[in-house]
Amino acid sequence: MVESALKHIRFCEKNDFTDLVISLKSSNAQQMIDANRLLSEKTNYPIHLGVTQAGPLKTGVIKSSIGIGCLLEEGIGNTIRVSLTGNPVEEVVAGWEILKSLDIRHRGRNIISCPTCGRTEVNLSKLVSQVEKATVKLEGPITIAIMGCVVNGPGEAKNADVGVAGGKKCGVIFRKGKIVKRVAEKDIVTELLNEIRKVSKGKKI
Ligand code: SF4
Repeated sequence: MVESALKHIRFCEKNDFTDLVISLKSSNAQQMIDANRLLSEKTNYPIHLGVTQAGPLKTGVIKSSIGIGCLLEEGIGNTIRVSLTGNPVEEVVAGWEILKSLDIRHRGRNIISCPTCGRTEVNLSKLVSQVEKATVKLEGPITIAIMGCVVNGPGEAKNADVGVAGGKKCGVIFRKGKIVKRVAEKDIVTELLNEIRKVSKGKKI
């Protein structure tokens, strides 16, 4: 792949064309990483990264995150494309999540939520999916923590822009590190969205 790319680069250069972006893609994440590492040692042209034909949503996002993320972390790559079978909107969402995870670009909301355990006394997965849906158009950047209990929840909730730590069928709402109020479980989403609106300075969510 690299030899072939270099051959084509030389051909373009011989013909006085140097406005190039090079892309070496493979459906194998490791092969794509190795090829782009080698290419970046041999040329200074911008590189477009992607794991091609990565597969269905879950598999494809994991392969792409590893392939693209690993190279970006090493400073290799100038543009990216996540390639998934399914709704192309998910490709854009996954691409942004990769950039956000590496602190390269921030846009929209960053939701932090715990995996739940025996301490959870609220329906956390329902809360997370409701907040996720309600904030899909939020411009951000904003960090929202949705945590299951008062043991480990407040730490994350305090560090986020807005957060909730679940209790016994209730939730403690935080904004910018301070407790705002305690509300019943049925009111958590509404109150969390109210606080998100305040932090987002009146922007529509
Ligand atoms: S934050 Fe609390 S509920 Fe969530 S996993 Fe940790 S200990 Fe369990």
